[in-house]
Amino acid sequence: MNRLLSLLLALALPLAAQAQDAGVRDPVTILISIDGFRADYLDRGITPNLSRLADEGAHGKLRPSFPTKTFPNHYAMVTGKRPDNNGIVGNNMIDPRRPQVKFSLGDPKQSLDPFWWDEAEPAWITAGKAGVRTATMFWPGSEVAIGEHRPPDWLRYDEHVGYAQRVNTILDWMRRPADIRPAFATLYFEAVDDAGHKFGPDSAEVNAAISEIDKRIGDLTAGLAAMRQRAHILIVADHGMRAIDESRIVQLADLIDLASIVAVETGPYAAIEPAAGTDDRVYEALLKPHDHMTCNRREELPERLHYGHNPRVAAIICIAEPGWSIIAGTPSWPVKGGAHGYDNQDSEMLALFVASGTGLNGDVGIVDNIEVYPLLMRLIGVTPLPSDASGVLAKRLP
Ligand code: AMP
Ligand code: ZN
Ligand code: ZN
Repeated sequence: MNRLLSLLLALALPLAAQAQDAGVRDPVTILISIDGFRADYLDRGITPNLSRLADEGAHGKLRPSFPTKTFPNHYAMVTGKRPDNNGIVGNNMIDPRRPQVKFSLGDPKQSLDPFWWDEAEPAWITAGKAGVRTATMFWPGSEVAIGEHRPPDWLRYDEHVGYAQRVNTILDWMRRPADIRPAFATLYFEAVDDAGHKFGPDSAEVNAAISEIDKRIGDLTAGLAAMRQRAHILIVADHGMRAIDESRIVQLADLIDLASIVAVETGPYAAIEPAAGTDDRVYEALLKPHDHMTCNRREELPERLHYGHNPRVAAIICIAEPGWSIIAGTPSWPVKGGAHGYDNQDSEMLALFVASGTGLNGDVGIVDNIEVYPLLMRLIGVTPLPSDASGVLAKRLP
């Protein structure tokens, strides 16, 4: 072989290897939740990375499912089923089959029990059954052995795991050899929701949290680009955030003897069970018109809420006027800062949606959050299970 030819080969081989490496890297689908990122936070001019992804790809506003809380909506987005049909009807709930216990997101004994989760099958399980490797860097439900399945890589939720570490975990997974590299991963951040609760949606602290998570998203996209890993990235939020204060309180104790009810949930909405033997008095007192709050028997909630048929929904659901808080006696949480859980028609409950590298373009408008599921499944390449979604987002894919 003459010297010129061997020189050319020496130059060309690494390039060919790189091209081949880029070629063999199938795109990964990453579903990112920024808890409590209200849709209009994207207009604050403090999110260079998210705004770039939105401008280059697609963006819109997700209408959460009622109740506009964390667990019901995270499960809705990965199952395509509204809370009534996915079984996670609240952050707190009681099942008539287990009346002595209460599901609560802060109580791992209940929240990690598959009993609560197996009314629907989340995307990572369906994908896993179809032979797609999955990994979850936190997502409500991902730590639970639903139908005895978990993602091959999952982590027990721990808010002390730093945000940079969460991003590095995703990047480390992507550095793996192709046969053990996930093709679908989730990533979750709580900072924006935390600051929204403590300081309210218009606070400097919320803006600082938004900027911090935006930087982490930038680290993720830079890390992926450095290893030439193509990615479909969906960035979502579960609900928005609304300012609350002590001047806007509906006190249930002013309407009813608190001993006659069990308040399963209080705040922007209240889930109320009459205590044994007190039904008539409770219904009479609560179902009449009130200022700043509307109560309905669960079977009589407005159809548009798609809520009340699951036996886990409490007998009476009271929804506060946006900005108001329903409390029962002395609240266990401070009535200040911000809250969510209101009617899902409230514009301040609308949540972030950004899609990058998916083929979606432009402004997709306001879309029900259950529509994330068929889109996600199309991107992963797995047939979705029957769900409540119409497929309106997935149909926009080229
Ligand atoms: P919310 O009360 O609806 O605002 O719930 C938000 C909180 O849910 C966050 O502050 C997180 O700490 C918590 N959270 C998020 N994911 C999980 C999880 N997988 N397990 C337990 N708690 C979680
Ligand atoms: Zn949330
Ligand atoms: Zn929250």
